[in-house]
Amino acid sequence: MIVKNRYGLVFNPQHLYFSQADAEPLIAGLQKAGFMGEVFSIDNYQANLVGENFLKMVTFLGCSPQIELTPPDRENWHNFCHIQIQYFPQPIYYRGMNRLRCFCSQCGARIPDKLPDLSQWQVEQQIIQCPKCQEKRSVEQLNWRHGAGFGQFFISVHNIYPNEAVPSDQLLKLLNSFYQGWNYFYYET
Ligand SMILES: [Zn+2]
Repeated sequence: MIVKNRYGLVFNPQHLYFSQADAEPLIAGLQKAGFMGEVFSIDNYQANLVGENFLKMVTFLGCSPQIELTPPDRENWHNFCHIQIQYFPQPIYYRGMNRLRCFCSQCGARIPDKLPDLSQWQVEQQIIQCPKCQEKRSVEQLNWRHGAGFGQFFISVHNIYPNEAVPSDQLLKLLNSFYQGWNYFYYET
């Protein structure tokens, strides 16, 4: 079975490289703190339930969010909020939002249309020059406004709508206690 999660909130370390040895204590720490709960697997799909403190660590915006924290039924079982660790052997460009806009992280100017072909990003780092301040930055250092991420390790919280929730200070503090510097972004399909 191929599971299609349709949207979510994803965390990744700002540094491109993240070894599996780095990931192990982090995952254990997230479980211990109650962000992630137990592992479940259905067919070939494996992920974690949210933990008992999840709702303290992710802040839902809006007055009465509809959050499913347990599988609704067998047929739609994956349409609920759960957590998946995704690890890639090489850093990748993880495009989150379909309509992606990116900005110079130095002066804030919009980087116009001419973005490089990011499908090749993992083999060759791309440098972009800001049209306004002329600052040169590699693509992962630009401001992607929570619409994309770059790296090899991602913690995906599936079935959160874009901008529906943000990480709490408690969660960011916890993540930073294992590894300094995190990015988060939303994806949609
Ligand atoms: Zn600039």
